[in-house]
Amino acid sequence: MTLLYALAFTVLSSIGFLIFYSRIYVVAMENLDDELRAEVQKYASLLENSGIKGIRAAIVNEGKFEDPKDGFYRLLDLEGNTLISTKMSWWQTIADQHAMATLLKSGLTSEIQTLSVKGQNDRTRTITAMLSPEYALQIGESLREVDAYLDIFLKLFSVLLTCLTVASMFIGWLLAKWATSDMQEVTSTAEEISKGIYNRRVQVTGRLKEIERLGTTFNRMLDRIQALLKTMKEINDNIAHDLRSPLARIRGIAEMHLLKESSVENYKEMAASTVEECDVLIEMVNTMLDITEAEAGVNSSQHETIELTELIIDACELFRPLAQSKNIDLRTNLPASLSINSNRKKLQRIVTNLLENAIKYSPEDKTVAVSTSAENGEITIEVEDSGCGISEKDLPHIFERFYRCDRSRRLGGVGLGLSLVKAYTESINGSVHVKSTFNQGSCFTLIFKR
Ligand code: ADP
Repeated sequence: MTLLYALAFTVLSSIGFLIFYSRIYVVAMENLDDELRAEVQKYASLLENSGIKGIRAAIVNEGKFEDPKDGFYRLLDLEGNTLISTKMSWWQTIADQHAMATLLKSGLTSEIQTLSVKGQNDRTRTITAMLSPEYALQIGESLREVDAYLDIFLKLFSVLLTCLTVASMFIGWLLAKWATSDMQEVTSTAEEISKGIYNRRVQVTGRLKEIERLGTTFNRMLDRIQALLKTMKEINDNIAHDLRSPLARIRGIAEMHLLKESSVENYKEMAASTVEECDVLIEMVNTMLDITEAEAGVNSSQHETIELTELIIDACELFRPLAQSKNIDLRTNLPASLSINSNRKKLQRIVTNLLENAIKYSPEDKTVAVSTSAENGEITIEVEDSGCGISEKDLPHIFERFYRCDRSRRLGGVGLGLSLVKAYTESINGSVHVKSTFNQGSCFTLIFKR
């Protein structure tokens, strides 16, 4: 990054300088050419007013060039012979270049060229111009001053470019270090997490927006992974716990009967309770499998037209004896007929689970009401009870696997009923919602598309 930055900076600076340098060169040349043209103009007027004598006096006294090496003036005839001139010893090689012939051949009245003095490292800007039909004037001005001036620029720029390249490398290095220091933080966090320190998070500095976003997203991902790990651990603990208790009970009863002489009646009792415990375990494992299947979308539901009112009445009849045993008033508020396109088996399990909970978590003499309604293309099923209710702390968790509110522990159940309700409802394109007030009652609402 540092090298690329320095390279880009150097290339751009060099291009910038080249443009600047060539512009200065062109402007210097244009100024010089304008001066030379003005000088020719002056001599043409002189020839007109004072004749060849005036020209001679002007060239001989020419004060423009204190040093003959600074430039020259000379009057030429049409053959290119020098009639009058300043000291030409330094410019002899230029004089030999037959500029006059070139001018006449080209048919122009004046021509400006840059010529080199043979054998010297010296250049001259030369104008050859017709003063009258018989005479031409040639003025040469050394480019030594211009070259020296441009040379200073060249040297200055070389030094400047070197300093700037070094400075840009340093600045680039600082910038790269600054930009990647936050990345370094993300990398070191990832390394620590890979070593098992799961609660480590990226310290977001907010210096660079992109890296801040990366850090925040990374932290959010870590939070989610940590929450998932926690849930998985809880599920594992719960499975272990819920499997251990019935297994320990089965083992305990069997051991007890082995240690003492038991009658056939006692053995029958043992067998019956073992079957009961095994049924609980089988039920639990089956429910787990049902939830997993529904969540994974395996065996996608077979839908059919179902008479919902009939299905709910059947379910209520199933639970009526249980409700009566607690003197619970099990009421229904259903239309005479309401059909829904859904999966019968799943809908039955959903309704019976909610009914079972409503009766289970209601003390004696309370009310459980089931109602349905159809509005705006949606069918709503409500199972409402005036039972123990769910605390605010527990409410967000009741649909989680194996979650049981503390005070329900003494009642039967493994905490999978509502997880199954949620998984089944969502697998048949519905949603489940709950409203509950602690010690007053709960209302579970199922919403399905018609
Ligand atoms: P469980 O086997 O414990 O009934 P569920 O998944 O069906 O498991 O329910 C999870 C928890 O939600 C229960 O332990 C209970 O505390 C609470 N719960 C469910 N339904 C009701 C209800 N109708 N009234 C009060 N609490 C309820």
